[in-house]
Amino acid sequence: MINIVLFGKPGAGKGTQAEFLKDRYNLVHISTGDIFRYNIKNNTDLGKEAQVFIEKGELVPDSLTIKMLECEVDKNLDAKGFLFDGFPRTEAQAEALDLFLQSKTWEVTATVALEANDDILVQRILERGKTSGRVDDQDEEKIRNRYNEYNEKTAPLMDYYKKQDKFHAVNGIGTIEEVTERLSSVIETL
Ligand code: ADP
Repeated sequence: MINIVLFGKPGAGKGTQAEFLKDRYNLVHISTGDIFRYNIKNNTDLGKEAQVFIEKGELVPDSLTIKMLECEVDKNLDAKGFLFDGFPRTEAQAEALDLFLQSKTWEVTATVALEANDDILVQRILERGKTSGRVDDQDEEKIRNRYNEYNEKTAPLMDYYKKQDKFHAVNGIGTIEEVTERLSSVIETL
């Protein structure tokens, strides 16, 4: 069993890379952003609750996000491993994930961060916003808010995983294939 947390700022390419990695390593890909968007599209109670935060570029409250994540994992108990994309994003989520995996005698194997500078990322998101239909991709102020949330709540997680000797960083600039190879070479060492 390998459980990988894919880490990176908004626009760093987590979703794109997850698509390749899940096939290559036979992992169940769980993207909290995708699950929220699916629920918003289908107008579920969870979607209605999450939408308010997402559209402002804020994080969805931990209680709601953690419950949803655990429910997704529980749907896939026969998995060979998981690729967590967009979770955890706060220290409370990281602690909850550790406890939850422990309760199944599993653990986070490693965290791999995709690194890129903010100017490139904001440009990528604005470009994506032209076609993605995502409200949070189309407005610079909302994008900036997502970066503030990242710096304040998510960046401290790097230390959380470094302390456990589980943090790896990869240069996220290059072609999609180049970045996939960089990520794979880290995963191969696990
Ligand atoms: P990006 O990484 O480009 O911001 P995501 O699709 O991962 O995009 O997430 C979109 C939005 O969904 C986030 O801005 C946030 O509001 C919400 N979200 C996703 N994952 C989490 C999480 N783990 N905790 C809280 N909110 C989340």
